[in-house]
Amino acid sequence: MASRKFFVGGNWKCNGTGEDVKKIVTVLNQAEVPSEDVVAGQGAAAAGLRRRSAELLGAQGRRLHRRDQVPWVILGHSERRALLGESSDFVADKVAYALTQGLKVIACIGETLEQREAGTTMDVVAAQTKAIAEKISDWTNIVLAYEPVWAIGTGKVATPAQAQEVHDGLRKWLHSNVSPAVAELTRIIYGGSVNGANCKELAAQPDVDGFLVGGASLKPEFVDIIKSAT
Ligand code: PGA
Repeated sequence: MASRKFFVGGNWKCNGTGEDVKKIVTVLNQAEVPSEDVVAGQGAAAAGLRRRSAELLGAQGRRLHRRDQVPWVILGHSERRALLGESSDFVADKVAYALTQGLKVIACIGETLEQREAGTTMDVVAAQTKAIAEKISDWTNIVLAYEPVWAIGTGKVATPAQAQEVHDGLRKWLHSNVSPAVAELTRIIYGGSVNGANCKELAAQPDVDGFLVGGASLKPEFVDIIKSAT
C-alpha cells in the first residue's frame, strides 16, 4: 500500500434506528481503533461519535457546505447515479464544488453487472474518473471508492483478485492521465458487501487502500474492518 494511509468509511445512509446508531457509536468509541485511520459515519446520526482524529464524520450527497463536524462527503454513489440520475459530469461538478468548500470527498465509481459481463469495466470506471479529473487539479482531498454496483448491498463481494485488477487499472490510469504522484498518493478504496469475514484478504491487495462499508458499518464487525490492514 506504499505510503498511503488506510482509509475506512462507514456509509450508514438512513439505515438503522436511533437505538442501532447509539449502539454502534458506543462500540466504535470503545474500540481501540488506530487513530491514524479515518472513519466516516454519516451525517447528524453520527454526531455521538467521539472524534479521534480531525476526520471522523462525513455526509452523503446533498450537504456540500463544510461544517466543522463534517469534513467528508460521499459523492457519486451508484444509488444516486441510478435513482437520481446523477451523471458523471454532474458528479464531477459536485466533487469540484465540494473541494472549493473545503470538504474532503469520497468519490464513488463502479460498473453495473451488465457492463462487467460485457467486459467494459475498465472503460466505465476510467470514464467516471476522467469526468472528475477534468474538473479538478488537486487530488489531495480525494479518496476514490471503487464500488461495483452488483456488489453493493447484495452480499456478492468482488473477489480480492477482481478488486485488485480494477484498483491497479485505476492507478495506472491516474499515472498516465493525471500524474505519477497522484497515482502513488491517492487512496483507492473498495466498497460492496465488505464484511468482517472478507475484509482481511481484500485489504491485503497492494492497491486496496481501504473500504467504504454500508451494511456492516452498523455492526460491531465494523471494528474488524477498520483494523483489517493491521
Ligand atoms: P454494502 O454498501 O457494504 O452494504 O454493500 C456499500 C455502499 O453502499 O457504499
